[in-house]
Amino acid sequence: MVFEGLAEKLQNTLKKLKGKGKLTEKDVAEAMREVKLALLEADVNFKVVKDFVQKVKERAVGAEVLESLTPGQQIIKIVNEELTELMGQTQSKLTFASKPPTVIMLVGLQGAGKTTTCGKLAGLLKKQGKRPLLIAGDIYRPAAIKQLQVVGGQVEVPVFTMGDKMSPVDIAKAGFEHGVNHGNDVIIIDTAGRLHINEELMEELQNVKSTIKPHEILLVVDSMTGQDAVNVAEEFNGKLGIDGVVLTKLDGDTRGGAALSVRSVTHKPIKFVGLGEKLEDLEPFYPDRMASRILG
Ligand code: GDP
Repeated sequence: MVFEGLAEKLQNTLKKLKGKGKLTEKDVAEAMREVKLALLEADVNFKVVKDFVQKVKERAVGAEVLESLTPGQQIIKIVNEELTELMGQTQSKLTFASKPPTVIMLVGLQGAGKTTTCGKLAGLLKKQGKRPLLIAGDIYRPAAIKQLQVVGGQVEVPVFTMGDKMSPVDIAKAGFEHGVNHGNDVIIIDTAGRLHINEELMEELQNVKSTIKPHEILLVVDSMTGQDAVNVAEEFNGKLGIDGVVLTKLDGDTRGGAALSVRSVTHKPIKFVGLGEKLEDLEPFYPDRMASRILG
């Protein structure tokens, strides 16, 4: 379960404050020290932790005393609100084109879960009444095309392929036209990843971007890689520009550092989370629910 360690530590720390009728400055300082350690252990970006603790402290000191809450409860409320804020405040939805089709391009490193997420997203949108088309644009990873056809078949969404001999730009262009001609209102492009970010990858993605002009570029990152995922997000955002993040494998991530840092470091929202290998395991990301999950 994500945030397992963090949730336990934060809840223990805050529980100590909860019952107290009065809080001394020392109580607050001690609690904040523990919050800071717990966040660092959860692999949250150092600067994010520093700013977070600073904000909570300032608010705790300046807070108006609410009659309905004990001082301890008030701090818990502040921590909850700041955690929610850290993760983006409200759910960040996909942007749909005013004139369909909406084009969504999924990018990311190999193994992050891009192809699986294409299938999951197509399935989710289909359930919402859309008519998606998947385009197989990953021509480098052996079996990526076949894999997309398999997941497309499972969610009953058509998959446009041209094999692996054409350029990703040409495939995306032809796929787009195919979608327009077949009445698809959402077009999801699976793109190639690499093991590491390199110039060639970025150039290729930039070419697809400038040709197809997607409404959404979603970066798929593996939450289990923690701060590496955040660094990848920063780099993709700087070089390509992204509109949001899909955080995969949250089911296997006990720490949650990426979930807590991505937004604050890149200023781009997490739009979806992957919670398993099955195609129904994709959910919109709700910052407030995540914060409540951490604080119990
Ligand atoms: P790609 O190289 O980015 O296209 O990655 P794939 O879509 O092939 O995914 C790589 C592996 O991660 C596969 O074994 C997927 O089943 C797995 N995977 C993807 N998303 C999730 C997720 O949210 N949770 C779990 N547990 N596994 C996932």
